[in-house]
Amino acid sequence: MESPVYLDANATTALDPRVLACMGELWSSSPGNASATHGPGRYAAHLVDCAQEELLEATGGTWRRVIWTSGATEANNTVVAHLGGRSRHLVVSALEHASVLRPVEHLLRRGLLEVSWVGCGADGVVSVEAVLAALRPDTGGVLLMAANNVTGALQPVEALADALPPRLWLHVDAAQALGKGVALGHPRIDSLSLSAHKLHGPVGVGALLLRQGREVEALLRGGEQQEGLRAGTVAVPLVVGMARAAALAHAEQVARRRAYLETRRALLGFLAQEGAQLLTPLQRSLPNTLCVRFPGLEGGLVQAAWSPWATVGLGSACQAGHAAPSHVLLAMGLRPREALEVVRLSWGFGAPALPLRRMGQALSKIQRGAA
Ligand code: PMP
Repeated sequence: MESPVYLDANATTALDPRVLACMGELWSSSPGNASATHGPGRYAAHLVDCAQEELLEATGGTWRRVIWTSGATEANNTVVAHLGGRSRHLVVSALEHASVLRPVEHLLRRGLLEVSWVGCGADGVVSVEAVLAALRPDTGGVLLMAANNVTGALQPVEALADALPPRLWLHVDAAQALGKGVALGHPRIDSLSLSAHKLHGPVGVGALLLRQGREVEALLRGGEQQEGLRAGTVAVPLVVGMARAAALAHAEQVARRRAYLETRRALLGFLAQEGAQLLTPLQRSLPNTLCVRFPGLEGGLVQAAWSPWATVGLGSACQAGHAAPSHVLLAMGLRPREALEVVRLSWGFGAPALPLRRMGQALSKIQRGAA
């Protein structure tokens, strides 16, 4: 039997063979420690500099520097710790990923911070007005993701960047948005979290981009790597792989978008026919994500029934294994029981033919069982 079609790209994507090839050479030729002063060390530092340039170009902004991290989780934690140590009050969207929510809640519990949570509409989109209304004289920053991982809904980051008073730090988690045609270069965004494994790059590497004039306090201490902003030996092959993945996504964005939308069109037709309720706002969403609810059917049941033919996600990938409804779906107004009836389909570029007939048969079977 053929292996199932992978439709859980928002959890992680397959490594692009071209990225693997460029990293492969580096793993085997021992590129040296980028902090060392000898020849191999200097060559490694040069590779890191080139990767920085490549990544900055792919993100199209007026970014001043890249701090390489282990992923978007670390980048988000770094910013929350930095802002939490300096501000009395933050405005945070209720849709953020756990790597923003949990560190914010940690500071809240310790009484080090006050937070205004901003919800969203039924479409999963946060309103700029609601963010602005939550600002206080002692607000230090605003945290809003560019694209939501559960629904794919794009957030009004650019409009917020235009409207936000200059004294406030604007942090954007762009882990899902990079390489999907979402503009991330607004000069008013102060920091941006990125992840390589969401765009066919290697897992275990990410970046925090900082705008000119912005600094963050190190989260990881114990070394002078990256100007002391993030201690730890830089993983040169991973960093090179991340930059290459971002550059490829940037260069191929038109073709990838077309392919993403083609898959989306096919899936939308199928899902409508099967009576699924669409939760993704199509007019403003990632082109590779559809979040849907099958009323009366638990998402886990649908996931299992489709598993021989297609691999799909449930709400947030980062909550996999938990039956807890996604906080994003609850913020959109779904009842907990309804939120558990949700599956997320998300695909990478070059997704193979969809086994829609098989998926339809599997659905009919469990629908008969549930009736
Ligand atoms: N932010 C968002 C929006 C995400 O979807 C994810 C991954 N699920 C992360 C942050 C964390 O990224 P990483 O796996 O690189 O730590």
